[in-house]
Amino acid sequence: MRALTWQGREDVTVTDVPDPVLREASDAVVRITSTAICGSDLHLFSILGPFIDPGDVLGHEPMGVVEEVGSEVTRLKVGDRVVVPFVIACGACWMCARGLHTQCETTQVREHGSGAALFGYTKLYGQVPGGQAEYGRATPRRGQRQARRVAGARAPRPEPRPARRDLRPARRAHA
Ligand SMILES: [Zn+2]
Ligand SMILES: [Zn+2]
Repeated sequence: MRALTWQGREDVTVTDVPDPVLREASDAVVRITSTAICGSDLHLFSILGPFIDPGDVLGHEPMGVVEEVGSEVTRLKVGDRVVVPFVIACGACWMCARGLHTQCETTQVREHGSGAALFGYTKLYGQVPGGQAEYGRATPRRGQRQARRVAGARAPRPEPRPARRDLRPARRAHA
């Protein structure tokens, strides 16, 4: 497939790279239909060069259609349209259970003291191939809670915040 790859400081180009394949039963392969260029990519373009290798695939804001799923994937099926979040999180650890997916304890790169792994964002965040590509490998077991949150029509509505008056002590509520 074709993908945008980093080649050196301030040097990126579209090249041929291997097609992503299912590596774990919890993986999915997504055919990417659109993808954004982010201001964060500018850090990769020059400043973070020491942490990126020539040929690394950039990009972390893709959306697309599920092409293939592993045997353990239950919440996504082939043909589903998905938005892939930047953060790769397990959805089950202590941090994820508290909504702190960017600090996921399962995917974080402890060697660099960084938070959760990120798509297309250097060795500091796992050196995971990014989404400025024709196809990408995602990990729905890790990401499906987030994916559901951003998937438009299927997103659960957040709990309404209590009105301010509901927070007052009862004795003052009718003052
Ligand atoms: Zn971004
Ligand atoms: Zn986690």
